[in-house]
Amino acid sequence: MAFAQIIVKLYQRGQDRIYTYRIPASMEGLQVGMMVEVPFGGGNRVLVGFVIDINETTEYPEDKIKEIRRMMGRECVFGPRELGMARWMQKRYYASLSACLALFVPKDPDRMSRMQKKVKLLRPLEEIQKVGVGQRRFLESVSAHPEWTLPRHVKETGLGSASLRSLQEKGWIHCWEEPEGIPAASVILPEVLRPQLNEEQQHAVTEITNAMTGVPQTFLLYGITGSGKTEVYMRCIEQALAQGKGAFLLVPEISLTPQLLERLNGRFGDQVAVLHSRLNDTERSREWRRIRYGAAKVVVGPRSALFAPLVNPGVIILDEEHETSYKSDMSPRFHAVEVAAEMAKRAGVPLVLGSATPSAESYYHTQQGEYKLLRLTHRAVEASRLPEIRMVDMRRELVLGNTSIFSMELLQAMKERLDRREQTVLFLNRRGHSSFVSCRKCGFVLRCPACFLPYTFHKDRNMMICHHCGRQTPAVETCPSCGSRYVKYFGAGTQRVEEEVSKVFPQARILRMDANTTSTKNAFREVYEQIRDYQADIIIGTQMIAKGMDMPRVTLVGVLAADMTLFYPDFHSTERTFQLLTQVAGRAGRGEVPGEVLIQTYDPDHYVLKSVAAHDDESFYRQELVSRSLLQCPPYTHLMQILISGKEEEKVQAAAVRLHQILTYYGRGRDYVLLGPAPAELGRIDNVFRWKLMIRHANEDKLIAYSNYCLDKFQEENHQVSIASDLNPVHMY
Ligand code: ADP
Ligand code: ZN
Ligand code: ZN
Repeated sequence: MAFAQIIVKLYQRGQDRIYTYRIPASMEGLQVGMMVEVPFGGGNRVLVGFVIDINETTEYPEDKIKEIRRMMGRECVFGPRELGMARWMQKRYYASLSACLALFVPKDPDRMSRMQKKVKLLRPLEEIQKVGVGQRRFLESVSAHPEWTLPRHVKETGLGSASLRSLQEKGWIHCWEEPEGIPAASVILPEVLRPQLNEEQQHAVTEITNAMTGVPQTFLLYGITGSGKTEVYMRCIEQALAQGKGAFLLVPEISLTPQLLERLNGRFGDQVAVLHSRLNDTERSREWRRIRYGAAKVVVGPRSALFAPLVNPGVIILDEEHETSYKSDMSPRFHAVEVAAEMAKRAGVPLVLGSATPSAESYYHTQQGEYKLLRLTHRAVEASRLPEIRMVDMRRELVLGNTSIFSMELLQAMKERLDRREQTVLFLNRRGHSSFVSCRKCGFVLRCPACFLPYTFHKDRNMMICHHCGRQTPAVETCPSCGSRYVKYFGAGTQRVEEEVSKVFPQARILRMDANTTSTKNAFREVYEQIRDYQADIIIGTQMIAKGMDMPRVTLVGVLAADMTLFYPDFHSTERTFQLLTQVAGRAGRGEVPGEVLIQTYDPDHYVLKSVAAHDDESFYRQELVSRSLLQCPPYTHLMQILISGKEEEKVQAAAVRLHQILTYYGRGRDYVLLGPAPAELGRIDNVFRWKLMIRHANEDKLIAYSNYCLDKFQEENHQVSIASDLNPVHMY
């Protein structure tokens, strides 16, 4: 009789225990690391489980133990490394263990369940001594045909099972099982011309590769846009491969551009595995297994790529480390930088955080000596220079009677670009046609009935869309409140900008690039090719345009409303505006011609805008950190944001008040600062009401322990609400 210890896939933290199941005799191949289906609870609901241990005996009364229903595939899909990380995440992010473990395993363990036995040499053929004639023939066969299965080698050479076992015991060969259909790893890398590194790049590569063999540590590779950070990453990855190890290269989804992939494929060939959200299930499981069985060693992708089954990384790299997309918005609400740091620590390898605009937190860590700072201060391509950045005071434009969305100066600059056959980028941090729809007569604003947030009007579809729950409704011509026909679409979105531009410059070829125009699989590549092939004169875009693309012909960037992000009520908004503007400005003058950036604003004296214009990052970080310290914000403190949500408003509010009581009670006499409870800024989304609470404390470990303890106490009571805890939130709800 054998029994399995199983973590059942339940997302309730309270039920997050390990259960014992009997292994039926028919399931003899079951191993630790496999997934199964088990009956659970009174109704014997069928749930997915993870096998974490197998024993001959059990302390439980055997007649009470249920039997495993089915094995899911025949692969071990997780090991001690994954389990260890999942346990760490469970504690840190107040999540269920199964939810954390589920991140590491393929979505479809059943898919490739036909397994085959493989064999490989552990030493070069010449070094293998003292073997019999039959064994020698077998080894030669393995060396000549590494793609064959073990049974085929045995059949072709007629090797007996005792001889095979003796080769294994002597450590000459390794036998394993893997699913059919995994392509063999290519060992020959494409021949490519690699640029000669400049001094700063060489210094960075030396420091990081030294840490790969010596004492591991965390590096902040702080290099301006176009300074050659990607080249530094690629050299570190080469070094990892040379050591027989692999590497993680994480990028925000948005910068997973065809350009980057071309460069990586050119350098590392089919050793690159790309994991991104647009892969279908078949493609995803293929990549998962190429990594799992060693065919791909360079894992590239967004935050979820960290959970790829790369057993032996030599370095972990996160590009654009300041990006908020590194934070998960679902439980477990992990931050990829934090998870990567823990993985790097466990693997004893360096962590490289790269950015042109590091987060204020990371900058602070370099000042504290926790991260080692590596600077790249000039652009890698000789002739290209930093653009000239100027403010345009929109208050003056208004005084001069210009009420259009373009200043005189910007119009003039655009005209010059058209004449010179150069490209212009117009940047607007907003999508859709206009921000909201209202009646000019009575002031009625059209809102989503579920969220109570103003609708966004989309002219191409003549629809109003709620950008929080996705609800859509046809646009109106008369006011639903007073019946007047003066319904107006306020604000400027990318579509509106497009219309205005084509009015002023009817001859210009305009390209719009936002989440709406690039939502399909290949749209991003097509847009990029259109820009590269000079099929557009003026490119209008949102955040998406700020990142990851080389646009050598772009010599002018116009920022239409810099203030839109600057005054958003979140302590991150100053940093975000600084980063966005710096990145956008980085689009100008990537080629030989110097670029120009015009920033239209109603507040040209703001320290963020002034630092951007002066290319004075240090001054920005200095002032930002002073302000963070005065406001008691991270990195000087740590925050835990708790979101309480539910269908009934009174219950949500009462639960928030009750949780506040619990926190107050267990925090008494200690220096936890509680903020709230208050309705969340988006107080209602899709008929779910949301309240929030914030806890602040200087010590992160204490904050986590206290918050988890109080939330467990709260969960013991039955409040019929959902709670989510968010450590170091990147957005204020
Ligand atoms: P970043 O990642 O910092 O934005 P990239 O690595 O993309 O910068 O480099 C910008 C451009 O400079 C790329 O076209 C790259 O091929 C080129 N480049 C990088 N390093 C060098 C170098 N040492 N010599 C010449 N060109 C380089
Ligand atoms: Zn009206
Ligand atoms: Zn809505």
